[in-house]
Amino acid sequence: MCSCLLALPVVFAQEVDKYASQRQLMAEEIAADARRLVSYIDKESVSDSVMQVMATVPRHLFIPPEMRAKAYENRPLPIGFGQTISQPYIVALMTDLLEPRPDHKVLEIGTGSGYQAAVLSGLVKEVYSIEIIDQLGQTAKRALKDHGYNNVSTRIADGYDGWPEHAPFDSIIVTAGISHIPPPLVKQLKNGGTMVIPVGTRFQTQQLTLVQKDHAGTVTTKQIIPVIFVPFTGGH
Ligand code: SAH
Repeated sequence: MCSCLLALPVVFAQEVDKYASQRQLMAEEIAADARRLVSYIDKESVSDSVMQVMATVPRHLFIPPEMRAKAYENRPLPIGFGQTISQPYIVALMTDLLEPRPDHKVLEIGTGSGYQAAVLSGLVKEVYSIEIIDQLGQTAKRALKDHGYNNVSTRIADGYDGWPEHAPFDSIIVTAGISHIPPPLVKQLKNGGTMVIPVGTRFQTQQLTLVQKDHAGTVTTKQIIPVIFVPFTGGH
């Protein structure tokens, strides 16, 4: 009886440790990708605060149980309904490009697994995340709630129109590839705000694009790096 009670926490600790060391290796791969891609990003490392969150958020809790052994590989993984959770390096890069701050309010289009929202949750004040596929949105909402990401609000809708009730946002992250930058999202970005969005059609290479609105409201765009995202769907 006594040894059984003692054994359980040991097994649990080993389980937690197994993921912690895999997560650490993943963080090292992200750092290596950042060094390799310095010519695109103009920056040889992802900021410390983003790296710290990447090394902490339990990615395995946001993917289907049968995929968990691969949770910390630095690559995208299927999450059902033809959708994917993004490659960890891309999550780190996009998060870093937003220059998140503790007082920020962020909008995400494409909740998917909820992982990107969980990463942002640790860096900003509030995250609003929209998903168009009902079942994915519900699963992500539950995972975020169950694991204490209480500053994330989710909604099932077409994200093309943004979330006007909570606008304006300090930053906006779009995690599905679209042919153009949706005007409603530009409108819902604060002056001085930043959006990161993969732009390109299904038949073209998408470009991860940084959209900046200056303090006078003037918008500029900059292509960062070629990427492959699942398509932005909906009625636009
Ligand atoms: N950020 C996600 C990645 C999800 S993949 C993660 O961390 O797991 C992109 C997601 O965008 C998919 O779940 C897809 O259903 C969703 N999506 C595509 N078009 C959309 C739209 N118009 N509005 C909201 N979500 C959309």
